[in-house]
Amino acid sequence: MGWKERKAVRKKIASERINELLTLADLSKDDEVLSTNSIKTAVAISRRHKIRIPQNYKRKYCKKCFNLFIPNTTVRIRTGKGKITITCLKCGHIKRIPYTKEKLIKNNY
Ligand SMILES: [Zn+2]
Repeated sequence: MGWKERKAVRKKIASERINELLTLADLSKDDEVLSTNSIKTAVAISRRHKIRIPQNYKRKYCKKCFNLFIPNTTVRIRTGKGKITITCLKCGHIKRIPYTKEKLIKNNY
């Protein structure tokens, strides 16, 4: 097996691991420490292997403190004039997404 194939295999394993960790985080909503740690590990793996976190998971956690977003519990989502505001209730990190971009994202995926 050449290095290119080995690299592909390693990436495949890493992305499977990321998916497992994100699923685990989703399933362990009641356990804040476990869900946060799962997300942290998934992000660490994605950085190490230069793999992107799946698009559908990107909005599910806080980029700053890796808090799992549970609407009305750990996150506040407001839609306003042409934008969506996502506030992490754990660290206060605010993310604003313009509506137009949101539509683009939805159309692309
Ligand atoms: Zn946060």
